[in-house]
Amino acid sequence: MYAHHSVFTIANEGKDDMFKNSLKDGRSVWLNGRQVDITQDPHFVGTLQTIESLFYMLENDQEQKEIGYFDKEYQCWIHKSFLIPRSKDDLIERRKTFQLWTKETDGMMSRLSDYARSRLTGWYANREFYRQYDQEFPEKISSYFHKARKENRFISVVQRDLQIDRSIKSIGDKEKLGLLSITKKTDEGVFVSGAKMIGTAAPYSHDLIIYPLSTIKEENKSLAHMLIVAADSPGLHMVCREPFSADKEKEEDYPLSSKFDEMDTVLIFDNVFVPWERVLLHENTKAIAEIKVDLISNSLAYHQSIIRLYTKLDFVAAIANEIAETIGAEGFLHVQEKLGELIIQLRTISAMIIAAEQNGKYLNNVYIPEFDYIQTARILGTKYYPRAIEIIQLIGSGGFIQIPSSVNDFDSSIGTLLQKYFHGKNTSALERTKLFKLAWDLIGSPFGSRHELYERFYSGDPILQTADQWKRYDKKHWKEYLASYLNRE
Ligand SMILES: Cc1cc2nc3c(=O)[nH]c(=O)nc-3n(C[C@H](O)[C@H](O)[C@H](O)COP(=O)(O)OP(=O)(O)OC[C@H]3O[C@@H](n4cnc5c(N)ncnc54)[C@H](O)[C@@H]3O)c2cc1C
Repeated sequence: MYAHHSVFTIANEGKDDMFKNSLKDGRSVWLNGRQVDITQDPHFVGTLQTIESLFYMLENDQEQKEIGYFDKEYQCWIHKSFLIPRSKDDLIERRKTFQLWTKETDGMMSRLSDYARSRLTGWYANREFYRQYDQEFPEKISSYFHKARKENRFISVVQRDLQIDRSIKSIGDKEKLGLLSITKKTDEGVFVSGAKMIGTAAPYSHDLIIYPLSTIKEENKSLAHMLIVAADSPGLHMVCREPFSADKEKEEDYPLSSKFDEMDTVLIFDNVFVPWERVLLHENTKAIAEIKVDLISNSLAYHQSIIRLYTKLDFVAAIANEIAETIGAEGFLHVQEKLGELIIQLRTISAMIIAAEQNGKYLNNVYIPEFDYIQTARILGTKYYPRAIEIIQLIGSGGFIQIPSSVNDFDSSIGTLLQKYFHGKNTSALERTKLFKLAWDLIGSPFGSRHELYERFYSGDPILQTADQWKRYDKKHWKEYLASYLNRE
């Protein structure tokens, strides 16, 4: 029997600091031209607190029952993103956990590990399929899967090659394109150099699952690997974008960016060592091609994505409605129509989730949600979210600018005049200001813009994804409809 050594209990500190201390491992995170300790740097502290509170739910007697399942083998609670659904009920159990977690962050944090864990769980559940490509894959992924769930590890997935020159058809020119490749092999493992994007939440992660998204031909097999890289590996540098996080002290002015900025990074690998047991696939173009489209892994991960999407759209709709009521615009027909549109978005995504779960099927003894409905919801999300943001702009209009610089201004000597002039139809000036600050953080701040970009692209290029719907669609019955009109046999 295994003892329960989560990343929290390994750290020999007070419970409040355990997750934080697990990240004090010498990882190389770069921000504003210097290496930072994310456990101390003010740009990371607010988000770190959010992640800690979510991860500690598994340590809390009441909450652990809602987000976890008790594992008899390990004698501990395991997060349900690691639960292999053996029935529809299991799938619904997973959904409830995702709903709970996403509600804690209003759907604003997408890479809280539950996505990557779902991917990992899918590959693990389907591991025997890969034995035909690599005899050792099932044992290697089992070893990591057990470690990750036992230790409640924070995992991220990073697949994309750098955006250097997308016109190049062959990815043979690995130096020019900065592609991740093996520079040396030893009996113990491999050394890799190159770069990857985008490592969302990488600075908060314990491990990174790395594999290429591009199609790799056999002649370029030296690029076809699946690696699990520890975030503190020497030579691995995480280069952060500009932080969009606001100071924790400014939480009232920036209620979202002060606590939900996940941070995105480019990962630079400068001769990073990866032991053989974490080289899950090595120079294996066929297996990599399968890994990317693994139906179990994709279905479980995208199921999580659309549950998060629903929560986020619900949150956006709540803000839109509140703004309309606050400024007395809810009676206008076009405003009602726009709010109705947001409700249609919600009902559509909700229906897709239900349809995917109810029409799920067994694949290799795993009950997976119906992929086509999930994928449809994901693609709709790339259009729904920007439209929802646009609707907030259209309803609130100049109101987003008619706000004082800070809610603290109400405590200043101009406070009485602000109370007099900044109120809403039926709301106080302070409440109206707080609402519009919240909305601005969502639609106008750098954090908000990043979210719009995220929803457009996180699931891949939406054009390719949509075209793929047509490519994969069974069009036979369309031909049948038309046969008599066209005098075909
Ligand atoms: C905020 C954010 C967070 C992200 N987080 C992660 C993460 O955690 N992990 C991860 O792996 N990825 C992540 N991604 C990356 C995401 O997967 C990619 O952005 C997405 O796949 C699109 O690829 P790209 O950005 O490289 O765009 P590009 O492929 O560079 O596209 C640029 C332009 O060229 C066009 N184009 C490119 N190729 C073609 C082609 N063959 N045919 C026609 N048009 C083409 C595109 O339509 C687009 O207009 C994240 C992205 C964002 C924006």
